[in-house]
Amino acid sequence: MSGKLEMLEGVSSLPKPLIMVVEDEAPLATMLRYNLEKQGFRVEEAADGQEALTRIAETRPDLVLLDWMLPAMSGIEVCRQLRRRPNTRDLPVIMVTARVEDQDAVRALNTGADDYVTKPFNIEALMARMRALLRRSSTVPVKGQLSFHDIEMDLATHRVTRNARRVHLGPTEFRLLEFFLQHPRRVFTREELLDAVWGPDIHVEPRTVDVHIRRLRKSINGDGELDVVRTVRTAGYALDTEPV
Ligand code: CA
Repeated sequence: MSGKLEMLEGVSSLPKPLIMVVEDEAPLATMLRYNLEKQGFRVEEAADGQEALTRIAETRPDLVLLDWMLPAMSGIEVCRQLRRRPNTRDLPVIMVTARVEDQDAVRALNTGADDYVTKPFNIEALMARMRALLRRSSTVPVKGQLSFHDIEMDLATHRVTRNARRVHLGPTEFRLLEFFLQHPRRVFTREELLDAVWGPDIHVEPRTVDVHIRRLRKSINGDGELDVVRTVRTAGYALDTEPV
């Protein structure tokens, strides 16, 4: 199989980004779902803050569109709670507000929202902000680029850099890193990595994964640089900047 074909398959089999729409006004939620699905996103909805926290924990969305004015628990409080939980600390959040005062926008951002839009918003402008945020959070590739922390991968040229330094990887290490970049911070078992990177029909010893992880670490971690490949004892590996 040619490397190029593998790359294309790898990209096309990526799941569409999942957006959690937290909105208590049903017509607005419906309009957002319609537009987001048309743009190739998957959509989950929650109509209040408590439901939002539960559904976000269950479905692990790539981005949250969070209405400020919600019944019972405000969007601000939802955002605060998301930032407090390790699993959602880095989850991209765009606050949607009917308020227009600058201090409210500042307050939204201080609570941990990554961006905000004011109602009524232009759907194209919202999409542009969502894409920019998704690109920054690197949960989905945009225009053939994957990135995490100070690592960047160009899928078209196979160029990998860390902190602007060129990193040379073997084909298996490249595929491993590509897979990790597509799912940052998620822990994968050796078997899952074998299925994803080598393919389900290929029979290799799980410890082969350890060998390639070691090579990946050696190439990607320069002198004095943070080890971005986290070993999770008994569980497997993750691309992460946080210790266990
Ligand atoms: Ca509302």
